[in-house]
Amino acid sequence: MSKVDPPTEEEIKLLEHRATQPAARVPLTVIPSTGLYPSEFFHLRKDWITWPMEMNSQEYPIITVPLSGECTRKTKLRGRRKATVGIVREDEPCSICRKKGKTNFQSPSRLEAERNVPVIDNTAADELRLWFQKYNTIPWNRNLTRLQTVSEDLINRTVKASDLRFVFARRAVKMGISDELIAENMGLKHIPKWLLEYNRKNSPEKVGKLTYQQYLEVIYRNGPITVCGISNLISRSESAVRSMLKKLEKRGFATRVGQKGRGRQTKNLWDTDVCPNTPLTCSENRCGEKFDTFVGLTAHRTRAH
Ligand SMILES: [Zn+2]
Ligand SMILES: [Zn+2]
Repeated sequence: MSKVDPPTEEEIKLLEHRATQPAARVPLTVIPSTGLYPSEFFHLRKDWITWPMEMNSQEYPIITVPLSGECTRKTKLRGRRKATVGIVREDEPCSICRKKGKTNFQSPSRLEAERNVPVIDNTAADELRLWFQKYNTIPWNRNLTRLQTVSEDLINRTVKASDLRFVFARRAVKMGISDELIAENMGLKHIPKWLLEYNRKNSPEKVGKLTYQQYLEVIYRNGPITVCGISNLISRSESAVRSMLKKLEKRGFATRVGQKGRGRQTKNLWDTDVCPNTPLTCSENRCGEKFDTFVGLTAHRTRAH
């Protein structure tokens, strides 16, 4: 595998802020929130996506990535962009498939079946929706020229599609999603070594209870979000999520901002504007001592006050 060098969250924020054109924005938001292989992303088509609807309980778009299929990147684009993308030819497979010596699209996935990849990040889901409202395919050059220009300009380095795929893994680890689920999501059978190493370095308490900061992080990044959405993201039960939300709400760290769905399907939406690493402060008698866990705060309260 070639060396991956995922941009930091700060770098991504900087890029997101300035990347206004879809050719930079769509990959910048969609790849880090799905972990798609670059070649899968470039072959992404409208009919791979199932959109959430009021009828079902699906809450975010789901991309079904087939193991193989016809290369439709050669399909003509509709609309004005046709002239500017330039790489689209109807009579032969795209440059990615050609380079692999294939006439059809082949996913690099190691799994035995197609996989369903949820797009849980709201920004990414919006970008995806906006793009596919107008177009059927992803037409950009595999070097992502537009994103390259922006990234060289802003952060003095080239950000490639493969770098963005690994941002997904980093975020997922940070959210406490299990190794197996991350691997599966990325189309891998085994958890790669770099991921294990990353885990060891970054989340010693990965198994078991998650910290309130990890919950906040998920809500902060994805809110407004339902209990079910949070539960899916962090692989913890809905009742665990509910009990944490209760604590966070009491603190003013998370709030109900509205509802989604109708009738019996109605679900509360949660959001927060509290930065995920905000400490818990003891409010007794202007004490002001700070804590990393609710347990720590409660222990202190019972002893000190
Ligand atoms: Zn192709
Ligand atoms: Zn105190």
